[in-house]
Amino acid sequence: MDAMSIFTAIIAREIPADIVFESDTIIAFRDIAPRAPIHLLVVPKTEEYANVVELAAGDPALLAEIVSVAKDLAREHADGEFRLIFNTGANAGQSVFHVHAHVLAGGLSEGSLGEE
Ligand code: 5GP
Repeated sequence: MDAMSIFTAIIAREIPADIVFESDTIIAFRDIAPRAPIHLLVVPKTEEYANVVELAAGDPALLAEIVSVAKDLAREHADGEFRLIFNTGANAGQSVFHVHAHVLAGGLSEGSLGEE
């Protein structure tokens, strides 16, 4: 059996997470190392897609669902405004190769796109 991704382990409740949203297709939880006052991860339950490029090509409706969930969560947890980040590739900071959106909100540095 292949090793499951850390996010699949969260979906399976094998490791704990602060889950803020769940549907048949998507789960969202707080990032364990927050980089903003609100830092959520929105993750499709399937681990078929390693990154957003694969997801956009393979299931654009699921990508649109992620954006819609991000919008709702930003409204629920902050003022509705948010930054949506898909790190794509190790050199761009991706460490978990199960596609996920970072939703950053709640008072971001003006104009900042990241720490580095
Ligand atoms: P990436 O670096 O792949 O874009 O994002 C992976 C994110 O997952 C990181 O921001 C990291 O802090 C978060 N992360 C890694 N392991 C865990 C975990 O076990 N639980 C939670 N809630 N977040 C995690």
